[in-house]
Amino acid sequence: MQAETTAGSQQLLKVNNRMALVRHLCANPGLSRADLALAVGLTKSTVSLLVRELVSEGWLAEREVVATGDLGRRPTPLFIDPDRLLLLGAEVGIESVRVVATSLTGEIQACNTAGYGASRTARACIASLATALLKVRRQLDASQQVLGIGVGLPGGVNEARGVLHFAPNLGWRDIPVGALLGEKLLDTPLDGVPLFIQNEADVAALGELEFNPTPASDPLLYVSINQGLGAGVIVGDRLLTGSRGFAGEVGHMVLQLGGPRCSCGRRGCAEALIATRAMLGPGDDPAALRSLAEVRAHLVDQDPETLKAVHSAGRNLGVLLQNLATAYDPGCIVLGGSVVELGLPFLQPALATLNDYAAAAGLPPPTVRTSRFGANAVAVGAAALARYRLTRPALPLADTGAAVAEEPA
Ligand SMILES: [Zn+2]
Repeated sequence: MQAETTAGSQQLLKVNNRMALVRHLCANPGLSRADLALAVGLTKSTVSLLVRELVSEGWLAEREVVATGDLGRRPTPLFIDPDRLLLLGAEVGIESVRVVATSLTGEIQACNTAGYGASRTARACIASLATALLKVRRQLDASQQVLGIGVGLPGGVNEARGVLHFAPNLGWRDIPVGALLGEKLLDTPLDGVPLFIQNEADVAALGELEFNPTPASDPLLYVSINQGLGAGVIVGDRLLTGSRGFAGEVGHMVLQLGGPRCSCGRRGCAEALIATRAMLGPGDDPAALRSLAEVRAHLVDQDPETLKAVHSAGRNLGVLLQNLATAYDPGCIVLGGSVVELGLPFLQPALATLNDYAAAAGLPPPTVRTSRFGANAVAVGAAALARYRLTRPALPLADTGAAVAEEPA
């Protein structure tokens, strides 16, 4: 037993060392074996051994050294191989799925989007997801290997169990997405590829952490604004999941006492004042609801009511960002999602409100920017989730347990 444990811990140590080299080269391409040994604190011979394995498995590539005459032989620079090992990332949206294949450093190599069709049951949508994943796999070369599949979902997720607790805008509750998707991929080219699932704002935040060429700001908040509103929070290089997996559900922070009804049943939540519904027609009459595309068209026409609604949603976003900045003292807040694509009519009042609060307190305003991946932020982020989990094997996965005292929304 003792011997087994020792062998097991040695194996884990080796995996950790290998992934430390991979992670270090993701952030610092072009280092030599000697540079790497110094940076991660391993001996040169251990690094040489591990690098040889990583090159043969497709993680790393060596680049030819240009002869420099009298300087003698230069150490060979190492890079993450951009072609051989890939990640798949999927966004499960309200209307459709979007799948991308990326390199280990986040470059998109293939993509596919697909609508759900007539049936919106979880099983039918997960079948569409499996089809889209396989379509993207077919776009890749047979020699390319898929290392992992990440999935971003619009609700609270227990990542350890692969279960979606509740997605109010899809009407799904307690869906074992991981198991159902795994079943759909049996006997396909993606059979047995590790699957990772997480909340959509969380994966988008991981996209900004993992696939950022410069060191990410810390803490980093990603605020995702669509039909729902949520945030992914990265603190100290780690995703903050909370005790039950619901950290970052900031759409249900209450901004207004007795305000408009929210999808969660409460009144005055940030989501009800900022997300898509806040800009749609008056009242709760679904017939009066307009799509976001219509909102955009009305903005182009300078429709005064639409301008007023979008401005008001923007100001409320400024209030929410002020509250988040106070709670987390973030290095950066990243905004993403379809509502953010409304652009300045929405974002200007948000930033003005945030800046006014900062000025009133004599403080510099927090740094805010939009997502670097635009409409692909969740799908690319889901690929980043796979890299985050695969290259941090020692990171514990919080199992948020079966007993859920209070459903989130
Ligand atoms: Zn709510």
